[in-house]
Amino acid sequence: MKIGIPRALFFYHYYPLWESFFKDLGQEVVLSNPTNKQILKNGIEVAVDDACLPVKLFHGHVRDIAGRADVIFIPRIISIEPKKYICPKFLGLPDMIKHNLPDLPPVMDMTLNLYNTKLNILEHFFEIGKYLNKTRLEVMKAYYVSHKKFSSYKKHLRKYSVTPYEILTQKNIKTIKPDFTVLLLGHPYNLYDDFISMNLIKKLQKRNVKIITYEMLNEKKIVRGTKKLTKDMFWTLGNNILGCAYYLLENRKIDGIIHVASFGCGPDSLVGELLEHKVIRDYKIPFLYLTLDEHSGEAGFNTRLEAFIDILEGRKFSENNISSHG
Ligand code: SF4
Repeated sequence: MKIGIPRALFFYHYYPLWESFFKDLGQEVVLSNPTNKQILKNGIEVAVDDACLPVKLFHGHVRDIAGRADVIFIPRIISIEPKKYICPKFLGLPDMIKHNLPDLPPVMDMTLNLYNTKLNILEHFFEIGKYLNKTRLEVMKAYYVSHKKFSSYKKHLRKYSVTPYEILTQKNIKTIKPDFTVLLLGHPYNLYDDFISMNLIKKLQKRNVKIITYEMLNEKKIVRGTKKLTKDMFWTLGNNILGCAYYLLENRKIDGIIHVASFGCGPDSLVGELLEHKVIRDYKIPFLYLTLDEHSGEAGFNTRLEAFIDILEGRKFSENNISSHG
């Protein structure tokens, strides 16, 4: 069976796991094409107006894959770790897609909810296996193999300071002797999609900026960072973004922060506010907040990015010219 996976949203987090699992069960995995103008246009055409950009784009990717797949995989994701939720848009995503695109091939919309216990994850995969007429034993074997691969993929990101972008797009973004280190924050589906992020990662690489993303930090460091929050953040992605930022700010390992957010995203606006206050009030390092929507113009985006890099350069120049004697 050809399983279609849209190259959007949680593709940027789970793809190595999903690919291994389906292939191990003898299925063929088909991906939508990398985002382009037409895919985005197709998504905007059918999605509700007030949906955020990544959800609109997801619709476009589903349309792109529809003619090439027997079934489309759109899990109903509620929670990906205990005691934390993710944005409710993911919960309603399969219904939204089926409603807005009625002529699709069948949709596999199994629920992933790890809020209560980690053991639930197998139930999610058993449900998928049932749909594919696989035995529980076959599913367990495929799951353990794919889980192992997924764990070593995540370890690889941390050990070699690699972003998922480099693995998923097979592009090398290493900078030799970088001038600056910048913490790049945002949802993976915004950061690692070249079209949507207007090639932000490549632009930073061109300016010899080394980037750090939260995937490079181990869980303990993120948890240490979140201890600085006055209240627990109950969204997984927001929690990771803030935990990573607070930890690295505390340890003074970065020259600046770029936060990429989607226009109309509730979680992003809250995280952005918290971050900006903290950075400006306590750490005073350059901070750039970039908002993406379907109308974002590349010229304005580039100007803001260039100005940010100029500030980094200016600070470096001033620091180098300050006498150690005061
Ligand atoms: S977290 Fe924000 S950008 Fe992501 S799906 Fe939810 S509303 Fe959209």
